[in-house]
Amino acid sequence: MSDQEDWKQRYLTESRDWESADKLLRRVATRLAIAAEGYSPDLDAVLQRIQTHIRSGASRDLEADLGDLSRQIKGLDSGRSAPKPAEAIETKAEETSSPPVHSDAREVLLTLIDEFAVTQPGSGAFETLRETLERDKGSNWHRVLERVIAEIRGLIQRISSDKQELQQLMQEVGEELGGISQVLGEEHSGLKEGREQALALHDAMDAGVEQIQSRIAEESDITRLKADVSQSLESIRKGISEFIERDAERFSLAETRNEELRSRIEKMEAETEQLQEKLNRNREKLMRDTLTGVHSRLAYDEMMAQEMSRFRRYKETFCLVMLDIDFFKRVNDTFGHAAGDKALQSVASIVGDRIRETDYLFRVGGEEFVLLLPRTEVSAASPLVEVIRVAVGESGFHYENQPVTITLSAGLTAVRDDDTPETLFARADDAMYRAKKAGRNRLVTLE
Ligand code: GH3
Ligand code: MG
Ligand code: MG
Repeated sequence: MSDQEDWKQRYLTESRDWESADKLLRRVATRLAIAAEGYSPDLDAVLQRIQTHIRSGASRDLEADLGDLSRQIKGLDSGRSAPKPAEAIETKAEETSSPPVHSDAREVLLTLIDEFAVTQPGSGAFETLRETLERDKGSNWHRVLERVIAEIRGLIQRISSDKQELQQLMQEVGEELGGISQVLGEEHSGLKEGREQALALHDAMDAGVEQIQSRIAEESDITRLKADVSQSLESIRKGISEFIERDAERFSLAETRNEELRSRIEKMEAETEQLQEKLNRNREKLMRDTLTGVHSRLAYDEMMAQEMSRFRRYKETFCLVMLDIDFFKRVNDTFGHAAGDKALQSVASIVGDRIRETDYLFRVGGEEFVLLLPRTEVSAASPLVEVIRVAVGESGFHYENQPVTITLSAGLTAVRDDDTPETLFARADDAMYRAKKAGRNRLVTLE
């Protein structure tokens, strides 16, 4: 084999690696965000192995690793019991696989990083990785892939520590419940003891009264009778006062126990509430895109599943709109990444200002947004998207006093009876691509 052929062969093998790495890792990113409860130590082991193989440059092993990774990810799905948006993603990744796979390692990584930054908000690490790649023109892609994997593993660890915290709380709650049940048991036996003593007192009084009656019947000596009766009465009085004393003790013991129970339950409630709040906050973070404040990709999956089942049950139609900024790469290349970010925020706010409160705007990719319009027909959605498209085009966005033209290509479609979330998304995406092909800055509708 000539040197050149050898190089070509290596290049081809490498691109194939990259194709699968790209698909798989993008899937991992989204999957991990939703599969918080499906944390698996095996997955972590595979990721660790990939890191080692990248370091040692063993690309053969890498292929096998990717197979393992794929199996692990499938495992994450089958381990889940709730409705499975993850499954939807998997098919989507295989069927529509957007954005397209590049053979250039640097492009793949940039796409991967963009995708990841959206599903993993609040991490500056991806920005740094992106800058490294852009600065070094991709010569360091091995290192960057390694760091991307390290980020994924970090995410797994964070998820697992949340899980551990939850487990610990469950254990504490379990112990508290054990304590409470013991106190209740004591309370119960205290009550039982009280009842037994009351019965005993009752019996003793009966016996005393009977004794008095028989003494009255038998005894004719009035002085002795008086002494006997007064002795019997004395023992009854003593019985009653002992009973009252013990009853007061039981009562105060019961009060102490009640107090103890109340404070334990209050403590448990406070702890559960705190954890609940923390989980809610984490969830809220995952549901929002930190850059633009609109709903995240993860929120899209949930909302779409919900809207789909509403459509199946009540026949409530809805529209899906894919919005993609035109030549966005140029904005970044000409004005810098910070300008690109500002433009994304500006587009999100222009769209957000023009939709109803019941509509949803999601950022599903780097410069891709999706609009979900519940209870809306194409005839009503179409003019709305036009208003949005024109407003973005005329927004007069400036960056450091320079005008930056931003336009949108939009694909609109309405849900059909035979749709799944994937076919619906693919149709909106297809419509958007047609808008690009037809010259951009336009809306294409596919009914
Ligand atoms: P087209 O008209 O065909 O859509 O061209 P395009 O350049 O918009 O499309 P392409 O998908 O090739 O490039 C999208 C670019 O968006 C690449 C990436 O650098 C940039 N991008 C993705 N996410 C972000 C982000 O969070 N911030 C910034 N500033 N840029 C981003
Ligand atoms: Mg795009
Ligand atoms: Mg674009």
